[in-house]
Amino acid sequence: MTQINPPSVAIVGAGLSGLACARTLQDAGFRVQVFDKSRGVGGRLATRRTDHGSFDHGAQYFTARDPRFRKRVEQWVAQGIAAPWTPALLAIDMTSGSPVRAAVGDGTVRYVGLPAMNRIGRTLADGLEVRTDCTVTAARRVAGAGRREQWQLSAAEGKAATVTLEASFDWLVAAIPSPQAAMLLGEAGSLQAQARMLPMVPCWAVMASFDAPVEAGFDAAFVNGSALTWIARNNAKPGRDPGPECWVLHAARDWSETALEDPAEAVCARMLAEFSRVIGCSRTPLTARAHRWRYSGPGARTDLACLFDATSGAGACGDWLAGSRVEGAYLSGLELAGRILDAAH
Ligand SMILES: Cc1cc2nc3c(=O)[nH]c(=O)nc-3n(C[C@H](O)[C@H](O)[C@H](O)COP(=O)(O)OP(=O)(O)OC[C@H]3O[C@@H](n4cnc5c(N)ncnc54)[C@H](O)[C@@H]3O)c2cc1C
Repeated sequence: MTQINPPSVAIVGAGLSGLACARTLQDAGFRVQVFDKSRGVGGRLATRRTDHGSFDHGAQYFTARDPRFRKRVEQWVAQGIAAPWTPALLAIDMTSGSPVRAAVGDGTVRYVGLPAMNRIGRTLADGLEVRTDCTVTAARRVAGAGRREQWQLSAAEGKAATVTLEASFDWLVAAIPSPQAAMLLGEAGSLQAQARMLPMVPCWAVMASFDAPVEAGFDAAFVNGSALTWIARNNAKPGRDPGPECWVLHAARDWSETALEDPAEAVCARMLAEFSRVIGCSRTPLTARAHRWRYSGPGARTDLACLFDATSGAGACGDWLAGSRVEGAYLSGLELAGRILDAAH
C-alpha cells in the first residue's frame, strides 16, 4: 500500500552501503533520494574505461560469507551481472630482494561484476532516484512542516557554487568514508565523534596497458615485502574484453601513506618499476596512469555494524563499519536501514 505522506530519507553516497540502504528503505515505502559526488554510482566498486582498455581500479573482487550477502550474490550470478573469478593466483614474497612465488589455493570463492565491477552499483541503483555529480557539503537540522525537525542539505552540483537544497528530509544517511561522514554529522548527537575515531587509509593504484600479453605466468598475485600489495591482469577476469592487456597494481598501505601527496606521474613510475621487479622482467606499458584512493579502506576495527542516532534521525554506514570490504559495506547499509525502519514504526 502506498503511504500518503511517506517518511523521506537523504542518502549521501551511492556506493554499495548507500545503495543497499536505499533499496531496503525504498522497498519499505520510504521516499528515498540518493546523492553522489561522482559521475557514476558504485563508489569504490569502480571501473575506469580508457582508449586502451578498462580497469577495475578499486575493489578487485568480493567474497560472500554472510547468508544475506550470499543470497544477494547468488541473485547477481543468476542475473548474469556477477560471476566467480578463478585466476591463476600467487603469493609473491619480495623480502629477500628477489621474487619467491607460491601458489594460493585457499578455497575462497572470488566474485567479480560482469562485464566490469561498476555493473553491480548500476544494477542496485536501478529504480532509485540518484543525483550524481552532486557533492553534499553540509547537513543541518531545521524546523519541519508540522512534524519534528528535518534535515536540510547544502550541495554543489558539478563545479557550481554550493546551494541549500529545497527539499528537506526526515532521515539522513551518511554512506561515505568516515572522515567525510564526520563532516556532515555535526548535528547528529555523538555520531561525528564516533566517525572521527574510525580513520581510513589510502591506496595508490596504477592502471597500465601493454601492447602484448605480459608473460608473468599468473593472473593475479598478493605481494609481500614490496611497495606493491596486489597485481592483477584485469582482462583475465570473466566477461572482459580480451583485447588490450590491462594490469592493475595496488600499493601497500604504508607506501601509499608515505607517497600520499607525491605527484601521480612519479608514483606511477615507481610502482611500474616495482612491477617489473615482482614479475621478474622489465615491461614498458603503452599507457599507465596512477589513481589515488585517499580513503581506500578502514584503518581501525569496530564491532559496530552502523552508527545511528534516533533523536536526530541520522545514521552512517560503510565499509569502515561492519567488517570492511564490499560485503561489509553492503551489510552495513542493510543494518542501518533496519535501525531506521525500527525507529520509524
Ligand atoms: C584500491 C582498493 C581495493 C579494494 N579491493 C577490494 C577487494 O578486493 N575486495 C573487497 O571486498 N573490497 C575491496 N575494496 C574495498 C571496497 O571497494 C569497499 O569496501 C566498498 O566498495 C565500500 O563501499 P561504501 O559504500 O562503504 O563506500 P564507497 O564505495 O566509497 O561509496 C561512497 C560514495 O560516496 C560518495 N561521496 C563521498 N562523499 C560525498 C559527498 N560529500 N557528497 C556526495 N557523495 C559523496 C563517493 O563518491 C562514493 O561514490 C577495495 C577498495 C579500494 C579502494
